[in-house]
Amino acid sequence: MKNIHARVRHLIQKFNTRNPAKIAKYINIHVKYTEYSYGTKGFFIKTLRNKFIIVNSTLDEESQRIILAHELGHALLHYNEPISIIREYTFFPIGPFEREANKFAAELLIPDDELRLDLSISEMSQLFGLPEELIKYKLNLY
Ligand SMILES: [Zn+2]
Repeated sequence: MKNIHARVRHLIQKFNTRNPAKIAKYINIHVKYTEYSYGTKGFFIKTLRNKFIIVNSTLDEESQRIILAHELGHALLHYNEPISIIREYTFFPIGPFEREANKFAAELLIPDDELRLDLSISEMSQLFGLPEELIKYKLNLY
Protein backbone atom coordinates (compact mmCIF):
# COMPACT_ATOMS: atom_id res chain seq x y z
CA MET A 1 0.00 0.00 0.00
CA LYS A 2 1.14 3.54 -0.69
CA ASN A 3 2.35 5.52 2.31
CA ILE A 4 -0.89 7.39 2.68
CA HIS A 5 -0.14 8.63 6.18
CA ALA A 6 2.95 10.50 4.93
CA ARG A 7 1.21 11.77 1.82
CA VAL A 8 -1.69 13.23 3.76
CA ARG A 9 0.64 14.81 6.31
CA HIS A 10 2.56 16.46 3.49
CA LEU A 11 -0.67 17.72 1.94
CA ILE A 12 -1.88 19.20 5.23
CA GLN A 13 1.46 20.96 5.75
CA LYS A 14 1.48 22.31 2.22
CA PHE A 15 -2.00 23.83 2.37
CA ASN A 16 -2.20 24.35 6.11
CA THR A 17 -5.66 22.81 6.36
CA ARG A 18 -7.45 19.49 6.84
CA ASN A 19 -10.57 20.80 5.18
CA PRO A 20 -11.20 18.56 2.14
CA ALA A 21 -13.18 21.28 0.31
CA LYS A 22 -10.32 23.76 0.65
CA ILE A 23 -7.70 21.24 -0.45
CA ALA A 24 -9.82 20.32 -3.49
CA LYS A 25 -9.98 23.98 -4.44
CA TYR A 26 -6.22 24.46 -4.07
CA ILE A 27 -5.48 21.55 -6.38
CA ASN A 28 -8.09 22.48 -8.97
CA ILE A 29 -10.59 19.75 -8.43
CA HIS A 30 -14.11 20.90 -9.11
CA VAL A 31 -16.54 20.01 -6.34
CA LYS A 32 -20.25 19.98 -7.03
CA TYR A 33 -23.14 19.29 -4.67
CA THR A 34 -26.07 17.61 -6.32
CA GLU A 35 -29.27 16.19 -4.96
CA TYR A 36 -29.68 12.44 -5.25
CA SER A 37 -32.74 10.93 -3.68
CA TYR A 38 -31.09 7.65 -2.65
CA GLY A 39 -28.27 5.23 -3.31
CA THR A 40 -25.48 7.34 -4.71
CA LYS A 41 -23.40 9.13 -2.11
CA GLY A 42 -20.84 10.65 -4.42
CA PHE A 43 -18.67 10.36 -7.51
CA PHE A 44 -15.19 10.92 -8.69
CA ILE A 45 -14.99 11.70 -12.41
CA LYS A 46 -11.87 12.36 -14.40
CA THR A 47 -11.79 13.66 -17.93
CA LEU A 48 -8.74 14.41 -20.07
CA ARG A 49 -8.32 17.85 -18.56
CA ASN A 50 -10.42 18.00 -15.44
CA LYS A 51 -11.27 16.18 -12.25
CA PHE A 52 -14.64 16.46 -10.59
CA ILE A 53 -16.02 15.38 -7.26
CA ILE A 54 -19.75 15.23 -6.91
CA VAL A 55 -21.28 14.97 -3.46
CA ASN A 56 -24.88 14.10 -2.69
CA SER A 57 -26.21 17.28 -1.11
CA THR A 58 -28.98 15.46 0.75
CA LEU A 59 -26.44 13.81 3.06
CA ASP A 60 -25.84 15.42 6.43
CA GLU A 61 -22.86 17.73 6.74
CA GLU A 62 -20.56 15.19 8.39
CA SER A 63 -21.31 12.56 5.76
CA GLN A 64 -20.64 15.05 2.98
CA ARG A 65 -17.27 15.81 4.54
CA ILE A 66 -16.39 12.10 4.71
CA ILE A 67 -17.42 11.47 1.11
CA LEU A 68 -15.49 14.51 -0.05
CA ALA A 69 -12.37 13.38 1.81
CA HIS A 70 -12.74 9.88 0.35
CA GLU A 71 -13.16 11.22 -3.19
CA LEU A 72 -10.18 13.49 -2.71
CA GLY A 73 -8.24 10.30 -1.96
CA HIS A 74 -9.27 8.87 -5.32
CA ALA A 75 -8.38 12.13 -7.07
CA LEU A 76 -4.89 12.22 -5.56
CA LEU A 77 -4.01 8.55 -5.34
CA HIS A 78 -5.69 7.07 -8.40
CA TYR A 79 -5.43 9.69 -11.11
CA ASN A 80 -3.04 7.47 -13.08
CA GLU A 81 -5.30 4.45 -12.97
CA PRO A 82 -7.39 3.56 -16.01
CA ILE A 83 -10.60 4.57 -14.33
CA SER A 84 -12.70 7.50 -15.41
CA ILE A 85 -15.52 7.30 -12.93
CA ILE A 86 -15.96 5.92 -9.45
CA ARG A 87 -19.38 5.93 -7.94
CA GLU A 88 -19.96 5.46 -4.23
CA TYR A 89 -22.98 3.63 -2.95
CA THR A 90 -21.76 2.95 0.54
CA PHE A 91 -19.53 4.82 2.95
CA PHE A 92 -16.90 2.14 3.26
CA PRO A 93 -16.76 0.20 0.02
CA ILE A 94 -14.34 -2.70 -0.30
CA GLY A 95 -11.58 -3.11 -2.88
CA PRO A 96 -7.94 -1.96 -3.19
CA PHE A 97 -8.67 1.55 -4.47
CA GLU A 98 -11.53 1.96 -2.05
CA ARG A 99 -9.43 0.90 0.91
CA GLU A 100 -6.78 3.44 -0.04
CA ALA A 101 -9.38 6.19 -0.39
CA ASN A 102 -10.83 5.26 3.02
CA LYS A 103 -7.39 5.37 4.59
CA PHE A 104 -6.79 8.76 2.97
CA ALA A 105 -10.07 10.08 4.41
CA ALA A 106 -9.22 8.76 7.88
CA GLU A 107 -5.76 10.36 7.81
CA LEU A 108 -7.17 13.66 6.62
CA LEU A 109 -10.03 13.89 9.10
CA ILE A 110 -8.36 12.50 12.23
CA PRO A 111 -5.22 14.24 13.52
CA ASP A 112 -2.54 11.93 14.98
CA ASP A 113 -2.20 14.00 18.13
CA GLU A 114 -5.90 13.84 18.90
CA LEU A 115 -6.06 10.06 18.91
CA ARG A 116 -6.95 8.66 22.30
CA LEU A 117 -5.57 5.17 22.54
CA ASP A 118 -6.95 4.87 26.05
CA LEU A 119 -10.46 4.94 24.58
CA SER A 120 -12.31 2.19 22.75
CA ILE A 121 -13.05 2.52 19.06
CA SER A 122 -16.68 3.30 19.73
CA GLU A 123 -15.70 5.96 22.28
CA MET A 124 -13.31 7.54 19.79
CA SER A 125 -16.04 7.39 17.17
CA GLN A 126 -18.25 9.47 19.46
CA LEU A 127 -15.44 11.82 20.39
CA PHE A 128 -14.66 12.66 16.74
CA GLY A 129 -18.22 12.37 15.50
CA LEU A 130 -16.95 9.99 12.83
CA PRO A 131 -17.91 6.40 12.00
CA GLU A 132 -16.07 3.54 13.70
CA GLU A 133 -14.87 2.29 10.30
CA LEU A 134 -12.93 5.51 9.82
CA ILE A 135 -11.32 5.19 13.25
CA LYS A 136 -10.27 1.65 12.35
CA TYR A 137 -8.70 2.85 9.10
CA LYS A 138 -6.82 5.48 11.05
CA LEU A 139 -5.53 2.83 13.45
CA ASN A 140 -4.54 0.54 10.56
CA LEU A 141 -6.99 -2.11 11.65
CA TYR A 142 -8.07 -2.73 8.06
ZN1 LIG B 1 -14.41 5.30 -3.47
